[in-house]
Amino acid sequence: MAGFSDISGAIRLAKASNATLFCGYCGTETMVVGRAGVCSNCEMPIEQDARAFSEKNPELSAVLGTIRVAVRKGDFDTAAKAYDDAFAKYKDPGFLYAESLVRIRHSNATIAQIRYDRKGFMEENTAYRNKGAQLTSSAKLLLAKAISVCNNSLAAGLTPGNAYLLFLCYNKMGKARAAGSTIGLIEKTGSIYLSRYAKMAHDAAVRDYKALMKDAEAMLAKDSFSVNAFFYLALSALKNGDEGRALRIIDGTRQFAANGSMGSLAADVKRFEESLL
Ligand SMILES: [Zn+2]
Repeated sequence: MAGFSDISGAIRLAKASNATLFCGYCGTETMVVGRAGVCSNCEMPIEQDARAFSEKNPELSAVLGTIRVAVRKGDFDTAAKAYDDAFAKYKDPGFLYAESLVRIRHSNATIAQIRYDRKGFMEENTAYRNKGAQLTSSAKLLLAKAISVCNNSLAAGLTPGNAYLLFLCYNKMGKARAAGSTIGLIEKTGSIYLSRYAKMAHDAAVRDYKALMKDAEAMLAKDSFSVNAFFYLALSALKNGDEGRALRIIDGTRQFAANGSMGSLAADVKRFEESLL
């Protein structure tokens, strides 16, 4: 595979799909090919469309709506509180994981306010830095708690959902070796789709960009398609020194892969290009 034409088949699949599935952890709708997928925002498995989900879970559906609006407005505390309540009610560690992502986002937004270009900002900078660090450590605590709940449920019985969530938590914590060892667990459950997806995300975490390219391309096939693979493929192209290809993938897929990952990758590519000037 080289250049743009190589992903045109995958783009055609995506355009023809006309189907989305709803994430029961963050409320995002993600384009899918077939009936399997992971959320383009939080990477949790998605199985139902929005209508089926809200018919079965009207209350949770409303909570997720509140969370989405709060995150969009930058009201991260309201979103975090709603996740706390959801975990207390449903005891599903997926809500702890989703809340940790909100905390990480809040931390990033806080740290982004640090300024070095004006006098008299040092005290404010310290406050932002401390708040950012505090949010990061609360995200880590949430991940640790999710891992503990997952391990307890794994002791009771292995399921694709808890093995995969364990993977996501370790991966997000930067514990690459522990994350890698859960891929075998996911395989044992027989979920080929989730184990393939985890392998791809793990390649990115351990910065094996050659393997990432191969595994991302495999996840753009009809029988195992994930729109997130466009992001991982672009990332691998960028890291393998082909920033032109990375930009072409982002441009070619922006219309249906509009999510946070693609946006931040586009910024990453731009920064990288500027550093070359
Ligand atoms: Zn999600």
